[in-house]
Amino acid sequence: MNTDRPFWETKTLAEMSKAEWESLCDGCGRCCLYILHNEETGDVFETDVACTLFDARGRRCTDYENRHARVPDCVALTPQNAKSLSWLPGTCAYRRLARGEGLPDWHPLITGDRDSVARAGIAVSPDLIPEDAIDDGLLESRITKAR
Ligand code: SF4
Ligand code: SF4
Repeated sequence: MNTDRPFWETKTLAEMSKAEWESLCDGCGRCCLYILHNEETGDVFETDVACTLFDARGRRCTDYENRHARVPDCVALTPQNAKSLSWLPGTCAYRRLARGEGLPDWHPLITGDRDSVARAGIAVSPDLIPEDAIDDGLLESRITKAR
């Protein structure tokens, strides 16, 4: 076995340690945005409305350890569901590795720089609207792009 290859090329998601698994997250923050589904077409749209626990400037969850208890809609990513969660952005490392696509060259594990995800234009904007500041009926007006 070639041990020079990085863990994300030699291990399956299920074989990774907790630290390796966590390090796959590029910190883009796009799974913390509200998304809308068109049930007829299956299309998914991204908004500029973020989960109430999301710190848009730091691009981080402010209560990561308790996120599932605090936000029941916060989906737990696992090696088993990473491939099938079609609403995850196509850039998400979990989705990409689950689909055998490898990591993009801007990924922080490759660049060694957390800010490379922002420079590549993948990270969310710091100017997001917190969900508790907008009425559910207005979410459609906050769509920014198709995902
Ligand atoms: S979309 Fe994927 S890579 Fe981006 S913050 Fe969410 S889990 Fe991490
Ligand atoms: S609870 Fe935290 S990890 Fe989950 S969607 Fe909200 S900000 Fe993101």
